[in-house]
Amino acid sequence: MPKVIDPRSNPSVGVIGAGQLALMMAEAAEALPLELSLLAASSDDAAISHFRQVTFGSAHEYGDVIAFGRTNDATTFDHELVNLDAVVALEDEGRAVFPSSQALRFAVDKAYQRMVFAAEGLPVPDFVVLEHFDEMAIRDFLAAHPEGVVVKSARGGYDGRGVAVLGAGVDPLETITNFLSAGTVVLEERVSMLAEMAVSIVTGRNGETVVYPVVDTVQRDGMCVEVNYPSTLSTEVAEAAERIARAVARRVNAVGVLAVELFATPKGVLINEVATRPHNSGHWTIEGTSASQFENHLRAVAGLELISPVATGAFVTMVNVIGTSRPGDYEAARQVAGASIHDYGKSWRSGRKLGHVTAVGDNRSGVTKTAWDAAALLQPSN
Ligand code: ADP
Repeated sequence: MPKVIDPRSNPSVGVIGAGQLALMMAEAAEALPLELSLLAASSDDAAISHFRQVTFGSAHEYGDVIAFGRTNDATTFDHELVNLDAVVALEDEGRAVFPSSQALRFAVDKAYQRMVFAAEGLPVPDFVVLEHFDEMAIRDFLAAHPEGVVVKSARGGYDGRGVAVLGAGVDPLETITNFLSAGTVVLEERVSMLAEMAVSIVTGRNGETVVYPVVDTVQRDGMCVEVNYPSTLSTEVAEAAERIARAVARRVNAVGVLAVELFATPKGVLINEVATRPHNSGHWTIEGTSASQFENHLRAVAGLELISPVATGAFVTMVNVIGTSRPGDYEAARQVAGASIHDYGKSWRSGRKLGHVTAVGDNRSGVTKTAWDAAALLQPSN
């Protein structure tokens, strides 16, 4: 007898924000027993066509977030720049919102992140938080770190925007003053990096966790351009990364995906930052594992059982498609054998993340070449 599934028993999950993460959540949701809906700011948002139910409203507007949250069994986010008061109010009403307002705080505030992790004894770069121009504290910190200092806006930065390395030819006091005009600043030591890594952990509503393997991430101009599985770092470093990520996950206590970005340094593994949602460093899991970060995020948020991810190949490379001086050729890229092309449907703009390419296989250099061959067609160099 065919198994009859009562559609009303499927939990309804609402996603606030209509960027590429919402789009990839919608793709993952097609195979899951849940109903996904979207809060989108504009009818131009590319994710809209992937959702059957769309509400228009702003993630910043208290009333819009409350009204949307009340219509769902559980609510989650495409991005964390949401009205936090509304999230707190929904929680006070007993609504399921994941990640919680407390967990979101880690994602929106680098100063808070650094201070809590440091207080917890978790390894972070040496840092100081500035609320205002404290010349003495700044000079002391600069003097203590002749190797260099990085200045970061505590809030609102992404893809390297809101981060500046105080190198030669840069007036540190002027740069810090400029950053302070936009709010709280974190000054931190410029770490000497062997590599950057990321670990994603998914926590279910019942506390169960699954962890994705450690990956190496490659950044250019503060933006992730490439992710490689498996990590090329030693087993000790990868194990330290996973151990630290698990400790971070326990502290942040976020239901859903928590992505932890880490630095491998001669002094050991240090935490760079965390994201409380599916993350660019985990896009490789769509083709590269048996259960993507998007699937497990939705499972966690909806209260479904998590799936322990298993890699589908020995090697995986994910390359971001970042807009260059002219649009790329998606038709040509789709002809590259072995390359999976993800087009976020965004209007082309130089410097904008427009999509990504993944290749899976049993040969490291072959997989990386395939991904870059396709990506090169999508980001022509002149
Ligand atoms: P964003 O939130 O914009 O992604 P990050 O804080 O992750 O910014 O910084 C972007 C990149 O800048 C990192 O991936 C790393 O390459 C570099 N970076 C950040 N902090 C440091 C640091 N303390 N020392 C050296 N490089 C850093």
